[in-house]
Amino acid sequence: MRLIDGKGIAKEIRSELRQWIAEHKKERPPGLLFILVGEDPSSRLYVEMKGRGCREVGIFSKVVALPEEVSQQGLIDQIQHANQDPHIDGLIVQQPLPPNLSLFQVMESVDPQKDVDGFHPINMGRLLIGDVSGLLPCTPLGILTLLKRSHIQVEGREVVVVGRSHIVGKPMAALLMQKGEGRNATVTVAHRASRDLASICYRADILIAAVGSPQLIKKEMVKEGAVVIDVGMNRLSDHRLVGDVDFSEVSEKCSAITPVPGGVGPMTIATLLANTFLSYCRREGIEVEGVKCGLMAGDYSQWDPHYLTNR
Ligand code: NAP
Repeated sequence: MRLIDGKGIAKEIRSELRQWIAEHKKERPPGLLFILVGEDPSSRLYVEMKGRGCREVGIFSKVVALPEEVSQQGLIDQIQHANQDPHIDGLIVQQPLPPNLSLFQVMESVDPQKDVDGFHPINMGRLLIGDVSGLLPCTPLGILTLLKRSHIQVEGREVVVVGRSHIVGKPMAALLMQKGEGRNATVTVAHRASRDLASICYRADILIAAVGSPQLIKKEMVKEGAVVIDVGMNRLSDHRLVGDVDFSEVSEKCSAITPVPGGVGPMTIATLLANTFLSYCRREGIEVEGVKCGLMAGDYSQWDPHYLTNR
């Protein structure tokens, strides 16, 4: 069994980005703004980690912290202010939001060109039709990059994605099913209403678990030699962080697996930094090989700029 080293690959990407940014930066650095609503400790921690990544690669970052009781309009005003700010290339409204706020309205308020999370309906739509001018969601793009840099073949293989959220499951499936090198997978998406989850998972050459249920995926659900990508980040009552996969038993059976922590998480942050740099390049009219084609550092530079399209 091979451990897929997300932490190491993310470090490589950050180092490439640091170099790219140093070489291509104009008068101002790329800028990323986080809007944080309320006091959720995990959200604060994620924003801190992303901010640390920004500092490491040379992206300017700023946090706007709003109280839990902020109104929908109050939040949208802040988003619109950031949309207009010439120093900001990327804008993130950290999720989850308090239940009184409409997530859809919030996502639609972000300028699609600054939507480095890739959640705006325009960017999601572009992903579906294979238009490379959009921004792609960070976790799915990070996973694709992880597979590519780990030399794991995706084309023609059966991929099962467990989970259908707009953050991970749906865009993951949409990316994998695109025509083109490094994707072209046969994708199945499972969720709570799926019948016989175990036999669906067992079909997978590559199994991607994005469920949010600690250690749901057991060894009898995994085919011998499958590749397993564990997106889950679940905090147990004893404070341990575990994934959606029962690592100790599944790792005996699969050919490669991502650990938690140290697998998908660091790739999500590295991809966010790459998306911010991509947005900066587009806004500043900078053409960097690999960035101009709409994906990230190094991986895609040798690919045809239209590789995601159906042409
Ligand atoms: P989410 O919005 O709660 O979606 C979870 C999905 O899993 C839903 O589609 C749900 O099905 C499905 N599901 C839940 N229990 C299931 C079960 N027993 N059988 C089959 N399907 C089941 O969560 P998310 O935002 O996608 O996140 C999923 C996990 O990934 C969480 O642990 C989160 O913390 C983690 N995450 C990690 C990263 C990272 O960078 N590593 C990034 C994002 C998220 P229904 O649609 O039928 O309800």
